[in-house]
Amino acid sequence: MADIIIVGAGPAGLSAAIYARRANMDTVVYEGESYGGQIINTPEIENYPAIAKISGFEWATNLYNHATGLGAKVEFDRVTAIEGSAEELFTVKLESGMEDTAKAVILAVGASNRHLGIDREEELTGKGISYCATCDGAFYKGKTVAVSGGGNTAVEDAIYLAGLADKVYLIHRRNEFRAEETLVKAAREMPNIEFVTPYVVTELKGEPKLASVILTNREDGSTKELEISGLFVAIGQEPKTADFKDLVALSGGYIEAGEDCRTNVKGIFAAGDGRTKKVRQLTTACSDGAVAALAAIDFIKLG
Ligand SMILES: Cc1cc2nc3c(=O)[nH]c(=O)nc-3n(C[C@H](O)[C@H](O)[C@H](O)COP(=O)(O)OP(=O)(O)OC[C@H]3O[C@@H](n4cnc5c(N)ncnc54)[C@H](O)[C@@H]3O)c2cc1C
Repeated sequence: MADIIIVGAGPAGLSAAIYARRANMDTVVYEGESYGGQIINTPEIENYPAIAKISGFEWATNLYNHATGLGAKVEFDRVTAIEGSAEELFTVKLESGMEDTAKAVILAVGASNRHLGIDREEELTGKGISYCATCDGAFYKGKTVAVSGGGNTAVEDAIYLAGLADKVYLIHRRNEFRAEETLVKAAREMPNIEFVTPYVVTELKGEPKLASVILTNREDGSTKELEISGLFVAIGQEPKTADFKDLVALSGGYIEAGEDCRTNVKGIFAAGDGRTKKVRQLTTACSDGAVAALAAIDFIKLG
């Protein structure tokens, strides 16, 4: 039995493990894939405070070593279900068929970005294709980029990138946008954002980096080529919460929890990209890890 079980060894989960171990809690982290979460394959991180430049792998490895060095146990086994309640213990069921119990649970399950699903998308990720304007926008200062998507994130990304890039194409499959009207209006008023609708990206070109995209018109099937250095894909995220939908309240698939990282179930906390929040970044994931661990410790000690 552990004091605290953390689901997910990404930035939020491992940060929670550091705080839990420093309070001497018996802490087990279960990870279904590899440690580090979404950041592990990112070539460069340039926005983590106090570290000007580092690869995602090195950053995640430092974090993993920090947490395990303090005595957190990381087990590579996916959590498939959680049962129990604050009054008894929580039972965590694992893909291997094993079970574990804990007094408190932190769900740090993260999310993954939806992909366009076209040829060469994986190959060109990090070489012109990005899923995070806040993370990678600064690499495209003075260049021509495109954003694909029609929701709030896509339009916000286009506006953000317009402050960095020379030119931003906003590509959307429909003429109407799902994004709030005020955002769309603000984007239309920016001189260096050009709306490209109703188009979808159907081909990626360039070697070894992205150099252009082929777009197909959804109404008449015609095609055109746009020369761009970067394509920001903003067509949504999938929080990894499916296994917990009957355990805690979700909103749009994300675990409902505010800045205090408390879910609607006593003793279960949520940290990182998998919870309802506005900014999904390393700093906010690590911050959530600290908040969730301290809340879990309070719960264990004070009830
Ligand atoms: C390509 C890319 C580049 C990025 N670059 C930056 C950047 O430069 N700067 C920045 O601040 N942010 C960046 N981000 C965002 C940042 O990576 C995320 O905000 C951060 O990783 C969120 O951390 P997390 O721990 O909440 O979730 P995640 O990183 O998603 O980690 C969650 C972990 O939980 C595991 N998990 C999920 N479900 C289960 C389960 N049932 N059982 C066991 N394990 C489970 C997953 O396998 C995963 O390892 C980038 C994201 C991407 C995709």
